[in-house]
Amino acid sequence: MKITFLGTGTSHGVPMIGCGCEVCRSDNPKNKRRRCSIYVLAGEKHLLFDTPPDLRDQVLTFGVERVDAVFITHPHADHIFGFDDICRFSDLQKGHIPVYGSPATIASMRNKFDYVDRQSHSFGGVPRVVFTEMNAPVEVGTVQVTPVPVKHGTDNIYGFRIDADGKSLAYIPDCSGIPQESFRTLENLDVMILDGLRPDKHTTHFSIEECVENLQRIGAKRSFLTHLTHHSDHESLQASLPAGIEVPWDGLTLS
Ligand SMILES: [Zn+2]
Ligand SMILES: [Zn+2]
Ligand SMILES: [Zn+2]
Repeated sequence: MKITFLGTGTSHGVPMIGCGCEVCRSDNPKNKRRRCSIYVLAGEKHLLFDTPPDLRDQVLTFGVERVDAVFITHPHADHIFGFDDICRFSDLQKGHIPVYGSPATIASMRNKFDYVDRQSHSFGGVPRVVFTEMNAPVEVGTVQVTPVPVKHGTDNIYGFRIDADGKSLAYIPDCSGIPQESFRTLENLDVMILDGLRPDKHTTHFSIEECVENLQRIGAKRSFLTHLTHHSDHESLQASLPAGIEVPWDGLTLS
């Protein structure tokens, strides 16, 4: 399994428009954060988790070569408004690409992307996809993807657990609470990636402290924060974290 962080930033991205703070002006490339997404190559399948507004740049910069399935955590703007760029993959691959999410997420996707062709066999111009409601694990080739229901403020949304090649990963970019049943889905992980928005508390996201507590409870072999704001300088944040908890950056790959 190979995981690429395509984006590790909050909804505004870092640098944030109109901000002159130290992190936004930083020369450290690890402080440049696109909106959140990961790309997973496993069992010869290429899976994309969310389609943020930066998707075109992310694909070109980090070498996303193919997309066999798309998984959407929830339909907030920072996670879906690069969706139209899926068009290039359905054109190149000459086929419809399955797009998975919770029933509420898929309903919202159908509404927001009502021009997307789901049936035609002529190719070009618009993404060719098959929107698919997901209430249970799905198989993409030999890869199993399991929904992990979490709270995001008052919304009930998904994170995902991915099992392939004897390895396991879970990805929860937006989260303010993990229900008891979902902790059971997060046992025995090699890699866990969890929302750790900023130092201060927030109504719809874990703060860094809350994220660390939950990462320690989950106890994956490697743990990462994501969905970071301009309040966090990469090096200072990494230095402040307990051993075993890491700050990723855009373009980081794990094998
Ligand atoms: Zn700033
Ligand atoms: Zn969100
Ligand atoms: Zn978000």
